[in-house]
Amino acid sequence: MSFVTRFAPSPTGYLHLGHALSSLTAFDAAREAGGRFILRIEDIDQGRARPEFEAAIFEDLAWLGVEWEEPVRRQSAHLADYEAALQSLIARNLVYRCFRTRKEVAEAIANAPHGAAEEMFRGEALPPDEEAAKLAAGEAFAWRLSLKKARAALGPAYFALVFEDENGPVRAEPEKHGDVILARKDFPASYHLASVWDDALQGVTHVIRGEDLRDAAHLHVLLQKLLDLPQPVYRHHRLVLGEDGKRLAKRDAAATLRALRERGKTPEDVRAMLEA
Ligand code: GLU
Repeated sequence: MSFVTRFAPSPTGYLHLGHALSSLTAFDAAREAGGRFILRIEDIDQGRARPEFEAAIFEDLAWLGVEWEEPVRRQSAHLADYEAALQSLIARNLVYRCFRTRKEVAEAIANAPHGAAEEMFRGEALPPDEEAAKLAAGEAFAWRLSLKKARAALGPAYFALVFEDENGPVRAEPEKHGDVILARKDFPASYHLASVWDDALQGVTHVIRGEDLRDAAHLHVLLQKLLDLPQPVYRHHRLVLGEDGKRLAKRDAAATLRALRERGKTPEDVRAMLEA
């Protein structure tokens, strides 16, 4: 069986120990399986991505001993792909324009009957005349995936959506996410759309990533079904915690790979720290 996995960082900060665990887990798994390891730069958020962080990703991973295939796919160079995927969803009426501001979304959720979480927003398209008026006025909007429409389009297949992770088969529950934003008015794709598209395009068979993205699989398998893309196997690894017991974030400067390197740590030390 072929085995293709990837590490897909966003160049919005320096890599830290958590990224070291992600990249090494995927890289080691590919080696063990005699498979391929891909590095992908997820830089569609051009407001936050920085070239110096991208350069640092290459440098830090090479230092760690991770080897990847060239050329590296940089998502910002392929926006037309994600736009086309979005267009196919628009053409099938599976997405709708949402003109609500963040505050209005928060209010809608607060007023929802079951006290839904922030990410559980559910809505629908405005009546055509209202929508046309907002468009004419140049109001900003986001494209949201309609779970209601997705369910209607897939019928029983929606409820039969299953994926495999390290615990075995899992029934997908896209409702965990509500109607997610797949693109914004001037921004062709969200992480979800671009990541799912690229995993398929790059032939990724095994998505290996942190526990923090466990819930993402529930949505990603729905997107795969709607876009007629193959479904990979999912594996999640534990998160690396900081000294405060919270998971590491890009702001934890002391845990960045470059800070560790500057303090004289070796790649072997990093591996040992991750095993401890
Ligand atoms: N780009 C995402 C991140 O840096 C990772 C996405 C993924 O592995 O699916 O958090």
